Amino acid sequence: MNDLRDLYQDVILDHYRRPRHRGALVDANRRAQGFNPLCGDQLTLYVRVKDGVIEEVSFEGSGCAISTASASLLTESIKGKTEREAEALFDRFRELVTQDDVTPHPGLGKLEVLAGVREFPVRVKCATLAWHTLRAALAGRHEPVSTE
Ligand code: ZN
Repeated sequence: MNDLRDLYQDVILDHYRRPRHRGALVDANRRAQGFNPLCGDQLTLYVRVKDGVIEEVSFEGSGCAISTASASLLTESIKGKTEREAEALFDRFRELVTQDDVTPHPGLGKLEVLAGVREFPVRVKCATLAWHTLRAALAGRHEPVSTE
């Protein structure tokens, strides 16, 4: 994959144009802000956790197609999962977007459409911003997350 156009698969464009779970979550009990200065992506992630399970998740913010699609895909992927499962998913996702020759991990589902960013190192930060922000939210950290 050498053509930037190949990166923007239909699923990514769909989630960019129609982000899922976008908007503030009024009864969130975890939240964090993330910022990717390299690209200008910024987002706030809202999570409602009960008994270790991510019951609800949403995001607000503005950013490029990759960061927005990744945040949207994140919300679909982690809703209903335990905090531990979400952390494990982040680890697998990060491998997917940073390492070559990774065998597809079962369980990544639609997140696999972002595998193409590994060809574009600058875009890796766009793709992982929402995940770093999620980790901060789950950990209860309040200072904004920066990818730099
Ligand atoms: Zn970006």
